[in-house]
This record gives sequence, C-alpha cells and structure tokens, in this order.
Amino acid sequence: MRSLADVIVVGNGALGLSVAVEIARRAPELKVSVIGPAERARAASVAAGAMLNCFGEVTTYTGRHPVSAARFAVAREALDLWPQWLAALEEDVGGANFRAVRASWSEGTFVIMSSSSGRIAGENFAAMCAAAEEHGEPHELVAPEEVAGLSPRLGHRPLRVLHLRREGAVDGRAMVAALEQAARERRVELVPATVRALLRPSGGAVSGVELQDGRTVSAGAVVLAAGVASGALAGQVLPPGAVPPMLHGTGLAVTVKRANTGPRGPHVIRTPNRAGTCGLHVVPLAGEDEQYIGATNVITFDPAPGVYLGLAQTMMRQASEQVDEALAVSYVHRWMIGTRPIPLDCYPLIGACSIPGLLFATGTYRDGFHSSPAIARHLAALLLQDTAAEKDTPFTHFAPERMPIQTMSVPEAVDDTARHAADTMHDQGTRMPWWLDSTPLEEWARARIRTFYESLEDPVALPPEVVDPQFLDPTAIETRSVDLLRRYLRAARAHHGT
Ligand SMILES: Cc1cc2nc3c(=O)[nH]c(=O)nc-3n(C[C@H](O)[C@H](O)[C@H](O)COP(=O)(O)OP(=O)(O)OC[C@H]3O[C@@H](n4cnc5c(N)ncnc54)[C@H](O)[C@@H]3O)c2cc1C
Repeated sequence: MRSLADVIVVGNGALGLSVAVEIARRAPELKVSVIGPAERARAASVAAGAMLNCFGEVTTYTGRHPVSAARFAVAREALDLWPQWLAALEEDVGGANFRAVRASWSEGTFVIMSSSSGRIAGENFAAMCAAAEEHGEPHELVAPEEVAGLSPRLGHRPLRVLHLRREGAVDGRAMVAALEQAARERRVELVPATVRALLRPSGGAVSGVELQDGRTVSAGAVVLAAGVASGALAGQVLPPGAVPPMLHGTGLAVTVKRANTGPRGPHVIRTPNRAGTCGLHVVPLAGEDEQYIGATNVITFDPAPGVYLGLAQTMMRQASEQVDEALAVSYVHRWMIGTRPIPLDCYPLIGACSIPGLLFATGTYRDGFHSSPAIARHLAALLLQDTAAEKDTPFTHFAPERMPIQTMSVPEAVDDTARHAADTMHDQGTRMPWWLDSTPLEEWARARIRTFYESLEDPVALPPEVVDPQFLDPTAIETRSVDLLRRYLRAARAHHGT
C-alpha cells in the first residue's frame, strides 16, 4: 500500500513533533505526517527533566570556540521563545488539554555549587555566572537558606547558589502529549509505525519512506528526527563517514512522591554540568508532592543494555545529600530510561544535506527539549524556503555532513579528558589518602587516554565525556567501540578529503 504526504517527519519525540507543528502552522495547505511508534521505547523526550535551561547549561567550553558559541546562541533564542511557544501550543490544543503542562511549568532555576562538587562543576559554575553577567541575563546569587526545597546534608551544603530567573522546566511527558494533540489539531497525520528505510530511487532525491510492515509513504521532503535511530537511517542513503556517528547517551531518571516531610521546592534545583555527565537535578512536577530526579549519562557506540546500578545509586544518594535529605524517604513512583542522541562531536545535526529532500533535526544531546522551539522554527523556515535570513544563522555550524567538529587539539583533549576522568572518580566517591591530591588519578587516566588516542592512527580531538567512560579500561583499546571509531575516521577522512 502506498500513501502520499508533502512532508514526512521520521520520529515522534519532542523534536519531530515540534517541527511538524511549526510546519503545519506556517503552511496549513501541506500534508504533514509524523511517523513513530506509539510506545517510544527509550525515547529521550519522555525521560527528560525537562529543564528549559540555557545559562544553566553553560560550561567552560561555551565561550571557547565559535561552534560552542553558536550552540549557546540557539539555546538563547529558545529561552526567549518558550513563553510564546507555550502560549501558541495552548491555543492549538485548548486550555483544558494544556492543564497538565501549565501545572508542571515552573519558572526559576537555582544552580547550586556544593562543597562536595568536583573541580569541573566549580569551573562551570563560574562560567555560568560570567555568561549571565556578560549577556545581561536576569540572575542573582542568593543565600542557600532562602531557597525553598534546598535542605542538604551537613557536609554537602552549597557554597554558592545562582538564581536564573527566566529558566525553569515543564513535565516532558505532558509536553509530548500536548505536542501530539497540537499536531492533530493542525491536521498533521500521526502514523504509529517504525520507518525501516528511506527511499531514494536511482540515487536521486529522497522520495519517501518504507515502514516496518512493508507499506510505503511518498513525500517531497523527509525530516529525520528519529533520535538515536537517525544515524542508522541516514547511513542507508549517505556514504560512510559523511555524518558523524550517532552515539547513545543512556540516562536514568526517577520520579518520586514525598512522604510527610514538608512541601517540595517549587523551582528547579540543579548542579552545573559535571565531569563526564550532566548536572544533577531535582525538578518539581505538577503534583504538590511529586518530583523528578535526574539524570545519569553514559555514552556508548552501541545501545546500552541498561543503566549501571552503581551509577543509579550515586545519583540518588547525591540528590538526597546535595539537594534535599527528605528525598531519601520519598517513594519511588516511576523509573525512566531514555537515550540522548549524541553525535560523536556532541554538536547537533540540523538542516539540509547533499541529498535533495532530506533534512536533519536531531543530535541534540542534553538540551534538545529546551532548544526544540528554535530548531522547529529553523527547520520550518528552511523547508518552506520562506526567508533568506535563515541562511546565515548559528545553525549553519551544525550542517549534518561534516568531519567531527574539533574545538581543541588532540593534546589538549588528552589533558582535559584526564582532568574530567579524575573529577568523575571524585564525584563517584573516590577518596584519596590525606597526603595525596588527585594528581595520581589524573596521571593514571592520562596514560590510558594517550594510549587510546595513539591507537586511532590519525585521531581527532573528542569531547571528554565521549572518551571518559568507555576507553579508560586498557583492554578497551581493542574493543568494538574503538574499532568502529577507527573505521569511521578512515571513512570520514576519505569522504571529506581531510
Ligand atoms: C534522562 C534524560 C534527561 C534529559 N533532560 C533534559 C532536560 O532537562 N532538558 C532538555 O532540554 N533536554 C533533556 N534531555 C535531552 C532531550 O531529552 C533530548 O535532547 C531530546 O528530547 C531529543 O528529542 P528527539 O525528538 O530528537 O529524540 P527522542 O525523544 O529520542 O525521539 C525520537 C523518536 O523517534 C522514534 N523513532 C526511533 N526510530 C524510529 C524509526 N525507525 N521510525 C520512526 N520513528 C522512530 C522513537 O520512538 C522516538 O519517539 C534529557 C534526556 C534524557 C535521556
């Protein structure tokens, strides 16, 4: 059976749905279809916080390189867009259908710099304060006692707390449901199915997709927004090495119901991004006694079978130590595992590629929920070719066909990764004897990281969090991940000619 659409969006997460809704708003005459399985197994969007953080995500890398600055520019654009994005969605679905999102919406994020934070988190906290100052973002440093819901254990009390007034969170699951409803209201067709293949007859333009059950859907344009699955789908039509591989950033989050331990905090309380992972965060949900605790992050080439128990244990211990000790006696309501789509260089894949009719809206790593309104606007403008101004935007840096973006040299990457590795060990509970600082840990990690880079023949500098977890084991040098990486780099150099 064959059906027709003008635009097919492959993937029904926050990105795919936002792009579809935005296209349908701008061009109601087009037939837009979103294809994705109803269960959304391991989708990032339904496991997300979902913090709407721009300055809260700043790290020491943000100001260091034009591409990092471009990502920050997208996040700033999204920060400005959120109030109108929510209002437009509410208008699309009607107030009653938007109640769950409104009830979960919290404004204001408190970023804590705890006495037990690692060095990297401390540096990121300083970078965040400097960025808020530089860009005139409404913020202030507040006394920890003034933050409702912040009640850490002795020994973990915050040294400093930054209040970002405009940043907050929504319930990710309620938001996906509202986006789906908005899509329906805008006459977007929602197809509960999985795409097996992109159709590209005789090597020309992409002309549609084939579904798992054999049906085909034809279209003039296909937007790839299938999260971690996007890499494999793109690989069907683009040559090896054309696009950086999509890695899996598996994360665990948990929602809890409070026992009789007083009210939960009404705002997001989080740490800065930490070595090798995201920030620890506790987010208020719609129910007065409900909270979300997130999240772990382990980046791998292949899908991870699950989440390490040890890491889950650390996350929950740290939430009750650093944010609110009453969390330890709250009741687990729901466990969620989601996979962040992470290109090898950790920058998103956005926009058109060399194959006519194929566009990318993926690879958003840890802030895809927040950035979704800005990405949706850009994709819609690109697809509908309605503005010349869209040509010169921060998004030009994220063209999908590229060598991995390198923001430092390989020796710098070795040093940075060693620092991150030592800090990760500290965050995970390593305690040095009183006569030693963390230098031996860093040296140990540096030796292994150097060996890993040497094994790549002609390496590129990778972000520390990509290298940190999977390559520290010396036996990993001959593992499948390293082999895949070597083969990818060979193909990428041959394809891009560098
Ligand atoms: C634990 C966790 C916490 C996070 N916290 C935050 C946060 O606080 N703030 C923030 O901004 N971001 C956060 N993120 C990141 C954010 O969730 C992602 O960047 C974003 O949601 C990615 O959206 P997506 O639509 O691209 O991918 P996904 O949400 O993964 O959606 C992809 C969809 O495509 C579908 N699909 C897959 N294969 C196919 C196929 N072959 N055919 C059709 N459909 C297919 C999947 O079923 C899925 O529904 C978090 C992520 C995790 C995992």
